[in-house]
Amino acid sequence: MKESTKRIFRLHGWRVDRAVHNYLYFVFYDLYVKGALYLTKAVVALFSRLEATRYIPRFIFDRYHAKVLSRGDVNKILNLEETVMLGTDTTRRIIPFKYANKIVLREPTHLAVMDCPCKLELDDPCQPVASCIAVGRPLVDFWLEHCQKYHVRRITKEEALAIIDEHRRKGHINQAFFKVATGGSMGVICNCCPRCCVSMRATALTRRIKGAEDISQYAPSGYKVRHDAGKCRLCGKCAEVCNFGAVEIRDGERVYHAESCYGCELCVENCPQGALSLYLEEGGLLPLDIDLARELLGG
Ligand code: SF4
Ligand code: SF4
Repeated sequence: MKESTKRIFRLHGWRVDRAVHNYLYFVFYDLYVKGALYLTKAVVALFSRLEATRYIPRFIFDRYHAKVLSRGDVNKILNLEETVMLGTDTTRRIIPFKYANKIVLREPTHLAVMDCPCKLELDDPCQPVASCIAVGRPLVDFWLEHCQKYHVRRITKEEALAIIDEHRRKGHINQAFFKVATGGSMGVICNCCPRCCVSMRATALTRRIKGAEDISQYAPSGYKVRHDAGKCRLCGKCAEVCNFGAVEIRDGERVYHAESCYGCELCVENCPQGALSLYLEEGGLLPLDIDLARELLGG
């Protein structure tokens, strides 16, 4: 057995079922994701009219979870030089999903990129297809040893940041994924758009279920957007780049729907007047800001 496979079994301890799940998840990444999308479609078709059974889709989709990251928080993760371990109490304040129980980035200077399984599912995906970034040595080693069919390659921090830049210029957001299959821990930063990302597509589908409109497979970053009307020229760029319909220009005014904003920071980066900035949402989830998490929560 390869060393990276043994590590997976050690990670899951007595839960051999989860270790096998973890192994299959990455080795058959594209099939797994395709299956998840088919499952979503089937569940939506079955339960879209029955409010009384909405707990079933809720149970199913609570197992898949991502955290939207601001650009600043992605930078901090990719610049980490030492292992970070944040326990369950800290993690729960950042990401609310049942199975997301720790943030562990072991030897985070090890980075790799591989083809996005969501994009492999499509005939005409957004480019580049190589957009999933593994952070931390255990996952990087596993990908390198098991996932060559997805064109995995080791990358430097500078290359990782350049990949993030390229996607964000195209209007893609960043999400950190926490999976049952990865021991409830974070390991992958993805570059996502609503057209390709199965997590975003599945969420949109799930919201068609009566009584399940609030189900989301991704948690907001923890930031909202402050607008300086004195600087704004009403160019509409912020509304154009928002993937969540959180901004519109209506009757000569910029209207911000804070409840729809996931705090991805795209509008801030794209405002030509520097009229937008992020602020911490009071009483909301904390961002996956490694410095803040360590400072406030002693993780
Ligand atoms: S991108 Fe900036 S200048 Fe343009 S409408 Fe939005 S806030 Fe105003
Ligand atoms: S309003 Fe800005 S920060 Fe909020 S989701 Fe839209 S682009 Fe992202």
